[in-house]
Amino acid sequence: MNNYSYILDNPSLDFKKNIKKIEKILSNEILVKVDYCGICHSDLHMALNDWGMTTFPFVGGHEVVGKIVEIGDQVKDIKTGDVIGIGWQSKSCNSCEMCESDHDNLCSSSTQTIVGRDGGFANYIKVDSSYAFKIPEALKPELAAPLMCAGITVYSPLSKYAKKGMNIAIVGIGGLGHLAVLTAKAMGCNVTAISHSDSKKDFALSLGADNFINSSNGDDLAQAIGSFDFILSTVSSNIDWTAYINALKPLGCLCFVGISTETMNISNLQLVMGEKKLVGSAIGGKKKIAEMLNFMATNNVKPIIELFDITEIKKAFKKLENNELRFRAVLKF
Ligand SMILES: [Zn+2]
Ligand SMILES: [Zn+2]
Repeated sequence: MNNYSYILDNPSLDFKKNIKKIEKILSNEILVKVDYCGICHSDLHMALNDWGMTTFPFVGGHEVVGKIVEIGDQVKDIKTGDVIGIGWQSKSCNSCEMCESDHDNLCSSSTQTIVGRDGGFANYIKVDSSYAFKIPEALKPELAAPLMCAGITVYSPLSKYAKKGMNIAIVGIGGLGHLAVLTAKAMGCNVTAISHSDSKKDFALSLGADNFINSSNGDDLAQAIGSFDFILSTVSSNIDWTAYINALKPLGCLCFVGISTETMNISNLQLVMGEKKLVGSAIGGKKKIAEMLNFMATNNVKPIIELFDITEIKKAFKKLENNELRFRAVLKF
């Protein structure tokens, strides 16, 4: 093979100073020339070693879209030149109970794209072909990039719990939340966007949300008591969850995709009396990712992005860190 060079990056390091060669690809692997890569909050946590599992120099990036330039001799179904996407997960064991039931995202021996290996903030990325997904032609590559993590994160629980005609609430209208509003609308749900300030109101309504609740006005949420079949929380702060549990109909479900490290303080009374459920959801398995890409293409669901040149990676990270990004940041190579 040719000697391709990575460009390594770490927001704390000087971009372009770190060059590394890709030595070889295995028979089941592919080499991808990266065209676009979204920036997710997990990239920031990893770059800052918040979770204590970062190896330096760190190459983040797990919302990758690019073209296959080399392919291992055992790879089937995809070929050189195909546009593919890569997300948070890049390998699983394929033989455990979770893998065999299409829950390979929950495989205990899975590999994450930016943990202990190099991600997509690089000119080239090498991955196991089973976690490279063909991007449908109807999806623009720069808009497909955020789907590989943010998109599957919200699509997976919505596809499981949200049904046409249901009253759904989306909590937090950022990178994940805005995609959740678009996706739930495409599924035919009646969607309420919930944010802690009115500044997201016009944006949420422009995405197609039917209603808006400002959660800082305690009364507004209290008035929504018993309203929702399903609530999806995309926020990473620990808020007054009891108010949200009260806003569920009996048998309703509150699902978390945003992660807070704080302990949740909830009363179990409302759960018991209304037979309500609290659940979590983490990305999605291979089958779900392929289904999600197809759904987004068929229903013309388009994330709203803010495009940065790769040389502006530090600027994009600073904006993410300071909460100044209005939309999902995508880097262009
Ligand atoms: Zn992510
Ligand atoms: Zn497994």
